[in-house]
Amino acid sequence: MTKIIEIESIQILDSRANPTLLVELLLEDGSKGSFQVPSGASTGIHEAHELRDKDKTCYGGKSVYKALQNIESIKGELIGKEFTQQEFDKKLIELDGTPNKEKLGANAILGLSIAFARASAAQYMLPLVEYLKRLAKGEDMTKPSEGSSEEVQIHPFANIINGGLHSGNDLNIQEFMVLPTFGTFEEKTRAIAEIYHTLKALIEKEYGKSQTAVGDEGGFAPEIAKARQALDLIMKAIQETGYEGRVKLAMDTAASDFYSSETKKYEVEAGLFLDYKELTAYYNDLVNSYPIISIEDPFAEDDFEAFAYFMKNAAKVENNPLTGNDTLLIVGDDLLVTNPKRIEMAKKAGACNALLLKINQIGTLTESIEAHLMAKKASWHTIVSHRSGETTDAFISDLALALGSSIKLGAPARGERAVKYNRLLQLYAKKCLQ
Ligand code: PEP
Ligand code: MG
Repeated sequence: MTKIIEIESIQILDSRANPTLLVELLLEDGSKGSFQVPSGASTGIHEAHELRDKDKTCYGGKSVYKALQNIESIKGELIGKEFTQQEFDKKLIELDGTPNKEKLGANAILGLSIAFARASAAQYMLPLVEYLKRLAKGEDMTKPSEGSSEEVQIHPFANIINGGLHSGNDLNIQEFMVLPTFGTFEEKTRAIAEIYHTLKALIEKEYGKSQTAVGDEGGFAPEIAKARQALDLIMKAIQETGYEGRVKLAMDTAASDFYSSETKKYEVEAGLFLDYKELTAYYNDLVNSYPIISIEDPFAEDDFEAFAYFMKNAAKVENNPLTGNDTLLIVGDDLLVTNPKRIEMAKKAGACNALLLKINQIGTLTESIEAHLMAKKASWHTIVSHRSGETTDAFISDLALALGSSIKLGAPARGERAVKYNRLLQLYAKKCLQ
């Protein structure tokens, strides 16, 4: 271990022109690490606190100067000291001292935690993936690297039609994704990109050129309002591109955003208000009509009863490559917020069978890995995920590969999304010089 000798942080912009943090950390031996912090839009109410200045005259209240000041204010507790990753993250949690990281801000804490991870990996002369793998397995960082072993082929969830809070259209369901189920990561990426281009041409033909603009995650956001319209477009694109039968579909409905706690109804499509049992039937109808293998946040974040009902009554799917059987993945995002306590609650309630893992929902790398391990222990699938407000940082690509999880990374377009595909292409090619 080596001492931390410097920490720097500045305010930068994310992919939605909102301020976020870039944190850098330097160790005594010259090892450096940095991280650019992402930010959500359809955020769960139980997520760790993202600290923003709330001064309406500056970036509409979204500046993060206070979070930067907080990093300055704790430097004295970190510089000149040596830590393991677990010790460093624990120190940050203690310095914050609140249950949801509201004092320092989860954005400030995460910037430090991941910058430290990168610097530590460099210090141990380990590729980042190897460092993360060893963290997850509790292995010694100092043992010599055995070189790259057999890599797992991870599954990319590619969001190619955007709705909900990520677009200006009338689709209430937030994300429509494709998952190629064959081949290497390179072949999967090629299929995603080809389907994406075919989809664009189809949208242009059916709805006009003006409808090919994209939403926050780079997926198309045409003026459609029904799930079936989106799914039909995608199926047509898959067929025309020649990948029929080799690509599955997934949705993130982000149902908290169309739930009314007063009426206890979900407006899954404009004017269509359903209770959770009716919504279950709605989802099952879609699962029976399309090769959907995964639905994320099908109900509101605290509607454990609805999640548990869906777990018992979900339609069977054909060949789910992620489960190896006929079980639909029911993914908890806002439900779980990558928080070990919420994962425990969901396990007890039988509420889901997969974890969406977003590092900024919980704020440290150690807790993110703990969440992953808890989910695996419960035999859940795990999916490392980007946020809708992203940066050109590709840390999550290394994390997903290290954990052998799936990855949700948006469309194969726009720099902040493409960089995550590209990092995985580089990692799989085993041609990384750094
Ligand atoms: C999501 O809901 O899974 C997502 C990526 O969106 P956001 O970052 O807005 O929460
Ligand atoms: Mg989600």
